[in-house]
Amino acid sequence: MIDSFLYQQPVKIRFGNGMISQLDDVLNEIEAEKCVLVSSKSFSEKCNKLIEENEKIKAVYSSVHPNPLLSDCEKIVELIKANGADTVIALGGGSSIDASKFAAACAYSEISPKEHYLSPAFPGKTAKIVAVPTTSGTGSEVTKVAVISHENEKKSIHNPAFMPDICIVDPELTLTVPPKSTMITGIDAFTHAIEAYWSVNHQPLTDLFAVESIRLILANLENAYKTGDIESRSNMSYASLLAGLAFSVAKTAASHACSFSISAYYHLPHGEACAFTLDSLMLLNNSERLESLSKAVGFENTADFAEKIRYFKKIAGLASKLSDLGENVDIETLAKEGANHPLMANNPVKLSEKQLYEMYEALQ
Ligand code: NAD
Repeated sequence: MIDSFLYQQPVKIRFGNGMISQLDDVLNEIEAEKCVLVSSKSFSEKCNKLIEENEKIKAVYSSVHPNPLLSDCEKIVELIKANGADTVIALGGGSSIDASKFAAACAYSEISPKEHYLSPAFPGKTAKIVAVPTTSGTGSEVTKVAVISHENEKKSIHNPAFMPDICIVDPELTLTVPPKSTMITGIDAFTHAIEAYWSVNHQPLTDLFAVESIRLILANLENAYKTGDIESRSNMSYASLLAGLAFSVAKTAASHACSFSISAYYHLPHGEACAFTLDSLMLLNNSERLESLSKAVGFENTADFAEKIRYFKKIAGLASKLSDLGENVDIETLAKEGANHPLMANNPVKLSEKQLYEMYEALQ
């Protein structure tokens, strides 16, 4: 019997190789008149080309930091206001998309982005958002999450105002992602799918998306990392989108709860920080359901599945031991902050500070 559920996903999705060429149609479709294009430095050339092709693009901010800062959002808001823009086009990885989402929600507000950051409520009108992911990892193009940093705090803010109006998922845009970033972002999508599957909020549709995403990532991540060919890139773009659709409703759990402190204190990129604990948590979270999933996706058991995660980390040289984070890692703080993070409430097993401490202690 299927349990009752509610699934809602408001973002229109256009997926396909070369789909960015339809940007003009997309802007007409959402009745965009004046746009601000947001990106990171690696996309300056692409931005110039898009400006030449689209007279609706009135300004560009192409300096979004990885792990975007509140100051990025403030600059985007200034550009929206100065140009009377109605739409933000976010071209980039999760950082550009998240900064755009936060800025679009603040665009017409009377109060400053900083005040919104300190007390995240977003009443009233927002600018429209077109999200164009260039990495296969965050799923930010279909989530109501924006992760923004300010003064050593990295905050994951959830608000319906952050939902893009439309996303253009064009796998060709990911062809230039370097191998290590391909693994880091791919493992981020993997963590989203696995966590959406084991989250206490999981439901039939999120399970469907999560399992298909896990299958695709197992079949394509290594190839995307090693060869970067368009077929594996395309499958990874689709897998990342599916994982986003899964966790946007089911939400993430312990691995993400632990990742924020790891990123904040030891400066690992988001996907690598999630992967740091993912295999250990798989064993701590083990259950009949997880054993069945492991068999369904081709493993003998959950321990084998966890071993595959260790393999991905090993081939790409991602952090897997405490010493990879630095000297004198403060595992007491990592355990305390992980155990008390709100996302821990979605974890299928209630994990205490002591259990997390022991998990970290074993990663010598
Ligand atoms: P990113 O956006 O920070 O990009 C990483 C680097 O890769 C940047 O230097 C960027 O310029 C470069 N880059 C991006 N696309 C490229 C391409 N096609 N070719 C060459 N270089 C490229 O990385 P990310 O992993 O996509 O995003 C990470 C951010 O997203 C973190 O802040 C994380 O917390 C957040 N996040 C958000 C959500 C969400 O739902 N909103 C989910 C997970 C993570």
